Amino acid sequence: MTTATNRGTRPVPAATLDAVAERLSPTRLRRVAAIAPYTTFRIGGPADLLYDADTGDDLAEAIDSAESAGVDWFVLGLGANVLVGDGGYRGLVIRNRARHVTWHSDGRCIAESGTVMADLIRDAVSAGWSGLEHYVGIPSTVGGAIWQNLHFLSPAPDRERTMFIAEVFDSCRVRRESGERTTVDASYVGFGYDDTVFHHTRDVVLDVTFRLARGDVFDMHRILQENLSWRGARHPWLEHHPSAGSIFKKIEGIGAGRLVDQCGLKGFRIGDAQISHIHANIMVNLGHASATDVRALIAHAQRAVFEKFGHHLEPEIGFIGSFDPP
Ligand SMILES: Cc1cc2nc3c(=O)[nH]c(=O)nc-3n(C[C@H](O)[C@H](O)[C@H](O)COP(=O)(O)OP(=O)(O)OC[C@H]3O[C@@H](n4cnc5c(N)ncnc54)[C@H](O)[C@@H]3O)c2cc1C
Repeated sequence: MTTATNRGTRPVPAATLDAVAERLSPTRLRRVAAIAPYTTFRIGGPADLLYDADTGDDLAEAIDSAESAGVDWFVLGLGANVLVGDGGYRGLVIRNRARHVTWHSDGRCIAESGTVMADLIRDAVSAGWSGLEHYVGIPSTVGGAIWQNLHFLSPAPDRERTMFIAEVFDSCRVRRESGERTTVDASYVGFGYDDTVFHHTRDVVLDVTFRLARGDVFDMHRILQENLSWRGARHPWLEHHPSAGSIFKKIEGIGAGRLVDQCGLKGFRIGDAQISHIHANIMVNLGHASATDVRALIAHAQRAVFEKFGHHLEPEIGFIGSFDPP
């Protein structure tokens, strides 16, 4: 996702929010609730309504409720690829906590879209199913992984190509923007680099069928360890330095981070938002960064790179909700 929309920015009358709230389970619904703790950047103002959906059907029905009241809605996975505005979200934010997984003896695995990739990878490897281990250490739900076409390098030592989650995808059940529930295949999803149909429509993934292969457990553990240590050495650690991963889209053959680095911007900060000392395409929250700080830092890096190299850096993360002061 690259563009900000105006969704989640217009004030919603209290009676309209009440109409949506009435259709949601009260025990999983909060009002004027902080979104920041549910993002890896730990930034962003409150949602008018924050709802935890606990099954795929619950997720689809929550969207139905918002749609029928004309209220804006947003599906949040692990919040690893978003910057939520300081003004928060006017409408309904649905945290996807639909996490049921069914394993089949032929290697098919059906995972609800809120399943955390780390959990799925752990269970697949311990059962001897291969195909997901390459994506270890990437914060994502299953739904976010399909939205993004999650990718990482093929195993060491060669690391000669980029692997994509599309390679183990069989099909998924979606709520289409028309409201219809249906199962779709890879041709519908249209997997590209950081791109799928879900970037261009309001379709939402409810569950995903993966097709995994029998693998050697020791080999898979080797890949897990090598990939985790590769990431640990090159990326700031989320536990200490919250971030949204790469801020700018890749520029083929050049590298967005390399351009930012060559402008001497590693360590440059605005407020508590800083360009990481160890990876120039990652911005970190030093503690109290606001979305305004991050946007100013993005603009600063874009300006510097354009003036020095003539390249326009395009943000890779999604800008969610209202960027007006709270
Ligand atoms: C430290 C770090 C490292 C990263 N490394 C990598 C990497 O190596 N490779 C890589 O590919 N990515 C990487 N990323 C990016 C991020 O992990 C992926 O984009 C991930 O897929 C986001 O998943 P999520 O569940 O957090 O989605 P969110 O950030 O919550 O949402 C992102 C978008 O997906 C949409 N979405 C979420 N769930 C659904 C659904 N069920 N149906 C339809 N749309 C949905 C949201 O509405 C939103 O528009 C990294 C991020 C971080 C923070």
